[in-house]
Amino acid sequence: MNEFSLIENFFADCTQKREDVALAVGDDCALMTVPPGCELAVSIDTLVAGVHFTAEVDSAALGHKALTVGLSDLAAMGAEPAWATLALTLPELDRAWLAGFTQGLSKLARSYGVQLVGGDTTRGPLAVTMQLHGFVPRGKALRRDGARPGDGIYVTGTLGDSGLALQARLEGLQLSQEALCYVEHRLDWPQPRVHEALALRPLAHAAIDISDGLAADLGHILKGSGVGAAVEVEALPLSDSFRASLELEQAWALALTAGDDYELCVTAPAEYHDRIQAVLSDRGCPCTLIGTIEEEPGFRCRRRNGASFIPQQQGYRHF
Ligand code: ADP
Ligand code: MG
Repeated sequence: MNEFSLIENFFADCTQKREDVALAVGDDCALMTVPPGCELAVSIDTLVAGVHFTAEVDSAALGHKALTVGLSDLAAMGAEPAWATLALTLPELDRAWLAGFTQGLSKLARSYGVQLVGGDTTRGPLAVTMQLHGFVPRGKALRRDGARPGDGIYVTGTLGDSGLALQARLEGLQLSQEALCYVEHRLDWPQPRVHEALALRPLAHAAIDISDGLAADLGHILKGSGVGAAVEVEALPLSDSFRASLELEQAWALALTAGDDYELCVTAPAEYHDRIQAVLSDRGCPCTLIGTIEEEPGFRCRRRNGASFIPQQQGYRHF
């Protein structure tokens, strides 16, 4: 098997076929049409072995996660996913590994109607770069600079589960079998909040996906919008497995700082509270009000009794 038969066998036809794709894998470029009235939203992310995942991780989970990361960025802009390109660097041509990878990728891609339209394949240390392309009606994207004082701050799902799984995997933190199973699934098979984001788009002022930890990612909204925030730690949504595994203050600190959750953090006017709950509960997704956007810059974390809470850890930084 050479590079070309690898592409032909594993990548040429592994995802949804879309009508807006005139030419996909096989030529120098792919050719696609953006619907009239829409802007093209583009996002790219790289997962490197030893940095973003351990080399032993199941290749199907890696294919799934590489796509989730990009879909989550599109979701955070309120964009509808359409196309993906994939740059794959592999140490060797391992059929079983590739079959798993494309299976994980293709299942998630089909479920969101995404077509893989091209890519690049090279030999070297294992790394996966996925670029996602989606559409958003002109002027309607959920940006980081749209938060306004008085907005409620909402998060989908629960926080910290992936971070807890990483502590178990890398630092040997002991968890119950049940908790370990739950949080490892959250780490390895995260679900992007695409439909939730599209439902929130007409209601929200600003959005971001939580990839580097709530404090860090909400911090980007605060900076972009020139505002501050007050968050109540008792309101942070925590899974039962997470809550059962940690002391309360440790749990809050990890929920504020752990990355890899791929949940959404959204700000929206207070009067939309009931509508937000309604559109997300229709989709079976919890959406929790955790605080308020304030005029005074800075990120203030408080206990319900008013005492300030300062987490010890910081969000993940590469440099
Ligand atoms: P070029 O030399 O023109 O860059 P390549 O040999 O890199 O072409 O790729 C041949 C075709 O296969 C191109 O259409 C490219 O987009 C596609 N391709 C290469 N690698 C992948 C991959 N991992 N996934 C999807 N498409 C790929
Ligand atoms: Mg190439």
